[in-house]
Amino acid sequence: MLFPTTIAGSLPKPEWLAEPNMLWAPWKSQGDELLRAKRDATMLAVKVQEDAGIDIVTEGEQARQHFVHGFLEKIDGIDFAHKVEMGIRKDRYKAMVPQVVAPLQLKGRVHADEARAHTKKKLKFTLPGPMTIIDTIADRYYGDRVKMAFAFADLLNEEAKALQADGVDLVQFDEPAFNVYMDEVNDWGIKALERAAQGLTCATAVHICYGYGIKANTDWKETLGAQWRQYEQIFPAIDASPIQQVAIECLNSKVPLDLLALLKTKIVQAGVIDVASDTVETAEDVVQVIDAVSKFVPKSNIIATTNCGMAPMRREIAEAKLMALGAGAALAREKLG
Ligand code: ZN
Repeated sequence: MLFPTTIAGSLPKPEWLAEPNMLWAPWKSQGDELLRAKRDATMLAVKVQEDAGIDIVTEGEQARQHFVHGFLEKIDGIDFAHKVEMGIRKDRYKAMVPQVVAPLQLKGRVHADEARAHTKKKLKFTLPGPMTIIDTIADRYYGDRVKMAFAFADLLNEEAKALQADGVDLVQFDEPAFNVYMDEVNDWGIKALERAAQGLTCATAVHICYGYGIKANTDWKETLGAQWRQYEQIFPAIDASPIQQVAIECLNSKVPLDLLALLKTKIVQAGVIDVASDTVETAEDVVQVIDAVSKFVPKSNIIATTNCGMAPMRREIAEAKLMALGAGAALAREKLG
């Protein structure tokens, strides 16, 4: 089937689970009640995707406060009790981040029992990539960014293999840091990513993007000029890596779509839904983006997705956008198939 659909990863959380419409939202309950609330929200997240006709669903990241820190919470060697303020993504915005204070080690499963039991659809699971993790945590132990990134890559690999054993069909590493530190991506970022994905037999993907639709990001995008060509510097190295899929934003982004031609051997998860705008796309809008992408990527290598995570959006908007995604891909099959 042409143009299967998926989402970048996250969906908004219900207001009974966490404070709505914000990143790093505080939980509304604790202990067992919080565990049950997370599970209930996960089932709803799966259901709205199924209703919208999404082919490769996610658990909506309902059980994690943030896509990076959700992974860090069950790792020994990280001090969450004493967070420090750090400028992240080359100081684009400040965040309160935990600190690495000792050798890193998984305490056990990080992402146990999220979603696989609740759907028969193909399941994608997102993990933060090594470069993005080290850009979102303070180092008081390793004293070397690259060394710390590879320590995280080892842990990611362990968790990714366990997710695969759970029946996850696609593991996606989110690397928004990849278009901020382009030289480092080529020096070691791709290698760290390959280490994280080493030995996986399920499908693998990397998501790169210009960030959520929050103000710090939209302000930054204003400074990037008429054409966003950062990917030109890193796509050749990604294309040479064994990672199979690349997920990037295409709708309303200033990334020239011809850069996608650099991804000669990859499946492209093309973002056809804008997460920085509350305007709900029409199915026709989705067809247009898929058509434009297909000038540079063979149709059989295109998956339709959202530009980025939907965590900070209003629920009703996110759900309407999911419906547009499902309907748009179906229409694209009719018109372009
Ligand atoms: Zn993103």
